[in-house]
Amino acid sequence: MTKKRVVVFSGAGLSAESGIPTFRGSDGLWENHRIEDVASPDGWARDPKLVLNFYAMRFEKVQSVQPNAGHRSLADLQEKFDVINITQNIDNLLERAGCNNVWHLHGRIDYQKCERHYDIFGLRDSYFNCDFKSEISKPVQWGDKCPKCGAQLRPDVVWFGESVDMRRGYLEELIETASIFIGVGTSAQVYPAAGLLTLFEETEQKFFIDPNPAYEALLGFEVIKSTATAVLPELVQRLLQAE
Ligand code: NAD
Repeated sequence: MTKKRVVVFSGAGLSAESGIPTFRGSDGLWENHRIEDVASPDGWARDPKLVLNFYAMRFEKVQSVQPNAGHRSLADLQEKFDVINITQNIDNLLERAGCNNVWHLHGRIDYQKCERHYDIFGLRDSYFNCDFKSEISKPVQWGDKCPKCGAQLRPDVVWFGESVDMRRGYLEELIETASIFIGVGTSAQVYPAAGLLTLFEETEQKFFIDPNPAYEALLGFEVIKSTATAVLPELVQRLLQAE
């Protein structure tokens, strides 16, 4: 029998209880840096060493924390469902919890790519484009060179102003075939998150988990105002038992 499909869309809130801070809310700074300094092509052009240091800290942080009960319960859901995780998170906690189908819209901190590989709107230069990308076990350093073209390497994360890894055909297929949709821990302010939630309005069963949801009136959604670790284990058990 084919398993029913569950699409889970997560943001920084899913990893908050593992000890990785979320992004929004305070003073517009991200761990004491202006976002445009550490997460934009301009910031990279101005001071690449600062950017590499910032991501080196975040890399070490991700490696030092553990998946929480929310990540683990999403892995448990695979027992009876075909689970597809779409995440804005650049950490690897879903994979480390055992989730085997994860689509990272904004890349992964434990991957690196050539600085010539990125695809900034309007600035792509196919002459310089280099498709080198690989998994790493230590942060990218200044002076780490692309083995294909010799340019500087950078983390494989999507910065403001760069293209998101959108697979439109695949997304359409997911919208058509999902029986259950779970949104968790996202303020859905960053493209394409806001649109993505509404795309699943026709899905049979829909949940949204966030202690402080930016969207209280999501059409047809069961909005649960609480944290990922408080809600997901119970919700997953409920779904498994009903199946
Ligand atoms: P966001 O910081 O804009 O929003 C986080 C949301 O999580 C908020 O709505 C908040 O109320 C909710 N939240 C906080 N604690 C929670 C908990 N314990 N359980 C459930 N929800 C909780 O995050 P975003 O919407 O993901 O957008 C931020 C951007 O920054 C993304 O592009 C992402 O790539 C990046 N980011 C990633 C990480 C990570 O990889 N873990 C961390 C911070 C930021």
